[in-house]
Amino acid sequence: MSASIPPAICPPRRILMGPGPSDIPARVLAALGAPTVGHLDPYFLKVMDELQAMLRQVFRTQNSLTLAVSGTGSAGMETVVDNLIEPGDRMVVCVNGVFGGRMADVARRAGAEVTVLERPYGEVFDPAVIETALKSHQPKVLGIVNAETSTGAHQSVEEIAKLCHQHSALIAVDCVTSLGGMPVEVDAWGLDAVYSGTQKCLSCPPGLAPVTFSSRAVEALDRRTKKVQSWYLDMQMVKDYWGGSRAYHHTAPINMNFALHEALRQVLEEGLEARFARHQQNHLALKAGAEAMGLSYAGVDGHRLPMLNAIQIPDGLDDVIARKQLLNDYGIEIGGGLGPWKGKVWRVGLMGTASSAANVLLFLAALENCLISQGKQVPAGAGVAAANAVYRQN
Ligand SMILES: *Cc1c(COP(=O)(O)O)cnc(C)c1O
Repeated sequence: MSASIPPAICPPRRILMGPGPSDIPARVLAALGAPTVGHLDPYFLKVMDELQAMLRQVFRTQNSLTLAVSGTGSAGMETVVDNLIEPGDRMVVCVNGVFGGRMADVARRAGAEVTVLERPYGEVFDPAVIETALKSHQPKVLGIVNAETSTGAHQSVEEIAKLCHQHSALIAVDCVTSLGGMPVEVDAWGLDAVYSGTQKCLSCPPGLAPVTFSSRAVEALDRRTKKVQSWYLDMQMVKDYWGGSRAYHHTAPINMNFALHEALRQVLEEGLEARFARHQQNHLALKAGAEAMGLSYAGVDGHRLPMLNAIQIPDGLDDVIARKQLLNDYGIEIGGGLGPWKGKVWRVGLMGTASSAANVLLFLAALENCLISQGKQVPAGAGVAAANAVYRQN
């Protein structure tokens, strides 16, 4: 009998420097393991209220419809798109990587008439191009990714939000990877529907999707003539559980909400500005180190994310062997390239807790060995020395 019972869970210790999930602080794991209470327990209702208040601070918004959807970042994407779109509505989706592509797919499934604007991997959208599309297609919604985790590209959205409003469109923004790692100003920038995920720069396990809807977006939800296609993600019902009558909709993943509560406490304790500065500094140190080892970054200068470093794999180097060596010899997980960048680019995440000098220095030292063991010439210690020089400057 016992032969059919697998051993108890005992995961290896990893350093998570990929595109997510990222390292989880012990106090967040402890909150995850706290005793479960009922989803209508007064204690849990208080936790939900506090979660909403903390999410508003992190999103920098006063939006009353701000909560954590039960599901990962992609559930946040579906929540935003499914609630804003009714069959036949026009939506323009900006695609410069995997996640923009996913948003276009979700929009089509919701019955939108989708127009896709495309940019090559690593590049970003010029507001003038978007304005032309807004004029010619007059969409109800424009969807765009703030931090394209598949490429490391940073798309600024402030000016694009203004253009959307001038042309009576709502702007839906994917902030899965940016939230908690770089500025996301929902109110100051006028973003209408924003979603994120817990396992990137918020340093929480995957499982919840913070979302926020502006009053303009809420008016659009109230004007709907057809029901939202997804029962589970229908904000009209979900919001009554989070705010109004506390009517049972679905059983909230109680312990995941505990974990997010602790993760957000930690974000706010550090302070958003300090957290953004830390992400930026570790990015600069990693970049200096990688370049000193003869490596170059993919993408475009001035449009790179601090939390997702897309590094070109040198010619003649085997991607899979190097990543296996990092994992097996050092316990470091990084990501491979996707789509046209498969085998060509490494995606090194410095997200949330994982964005640390210790991780940067260890990674550079480990990578030096991986490069040398495949016959590449690297000046000894050059990466670590260049990174340390950045740390000493600041
Ligand atoms: C990770 C990610 C998603 C999807 O989130 P899941 O948690 O994997 O469902 C969506 N958009 C971006 C930009 C992401 O980085």
